[in-house]
Amino acid sequence: MEIKKKDIRALTKEQLREFFVKQGDKAFRGNQVYEWLWQKSAHSFEDMTNISLDTRQMLQDNFVINHIKVDQMQRSSDGTIKNAVRLHDDLIVESVLIPTATRTTACVSSQVGCSLDCKFCATARLKRMRNLNPDEIYDQVVAIDNESRLYHNRPLSNIVFMGMGEPLMNYNNVLKAIDKITSPEGLGMSPKRIVVSTSGVPKMIKKMADDEVKFKLAVSLHSAIDEVRTSIMPFNATFPLSDLREALQYWYAKTKNRITYEYVVWDGINDKRKDVDALVEFCKFAPSKVNLIEYNPIDDGEFQQANSRALDMYVDVLEANNITVTVRRSRGKDIDAACGQLANKG
Ligand code: SAH
Repeated sequence: MEIKKKDIRALTKEQLREFFVKQGDKAFRGNQVYEWLWQKSAHSFEDMTNISLDTRQMLQDNFVINHIKVDQMQRSSDGTIKNAVRLHDDLIVESVLIPTATRTTACVSSQVGCSLDCKFCATARLKRMRNLNPDEIYDQVVAIDNESRLYHNRPLSNIVFMGMGEPLMNYNNVLKAIDKITSPEGLGMSPKRIVVSTSGVPKMIKKMADDEVKFKLAVSLHSAIDEVRTSIMPFNATFPLSDLREALQYWYAKTKNRITYEYVVWDGINDKRKDVDALVEFCKFAPSKVNLIEYNPIDDGEFQQANSRALDMYVDVLEANNITVTVRRSRGKDIDAACGQLANKG
């Protein structure tokens, strides 16, 4: 019977050092291998050229490197790239590279599918299969960084956790991945360039504040009226806006980090004056700004983007109340790479 080999990247650096000491080798060997695994993103033990052949063979006998594989890459006419990423157990997630004049952003997935049931999101139809491991999240970033250098002649500059899944329902692994992304032993990126987007899980937002995380927080609000929000994001019945508000106030008090609210305006759902007024009130609870996102239609046409009059009203009323608002244009729609369109359609 074949023994199931352990995923070597599940080990911390300290554990790797201890492993080598137990093998009668030097702890330092652990540092070297760790560097190959993370900083140099080695796909196999054979790549580790400063490690002796015997040691490489010993590692091969004991461990696997479950590296992701970019199965399919699609490039949009606007420069957006979508990767279909195959995991070691053959499940697929998607990640997206979004170039603008000044930055390249990676939009990465945190789960295979999603357990939430947002009515307007294509990923919701997939159901949640499993959480991604820290290395699977990290590898998506490395793959996009490589593509950014190759196709746009510059390194990746920003990361948003806005792909498949709810990052705060895979909190520990997301945090471990971000640790690697920001560590000099990984990609050495600034946490200020990372945004974790959540549908709003109050107790996890508080936990993030307690953990004093340094990345930014975005909340997919879409409505500041409980009844409306519950109708499009059913889990709002369990975590109502009052709980979300309290958690966000706690977040700001602890981190002093302004919150971004992501918001789509839909025809007949949240396009009235009362909807904007409720949003203005909600924005007053903690320093924040509003990102109005363009709706990316998913198959059945149940939801439609509100007309530009409604959008203008939002912008006018928010600005009149001194709330920063930006209108974000969608990217990569022609390859189903835009927000909420990730559903493994290929
Ligand atoms: N679960 C997390 C991250 C994934 S969704 C969250 O809810 O924030 C990333 C963003 O895309 C969220 O703001 C989400 O509300 C938005 N989104 C989902 N479906 C969309 C669609 N069809 N069009 C535009 N934005 C969408």
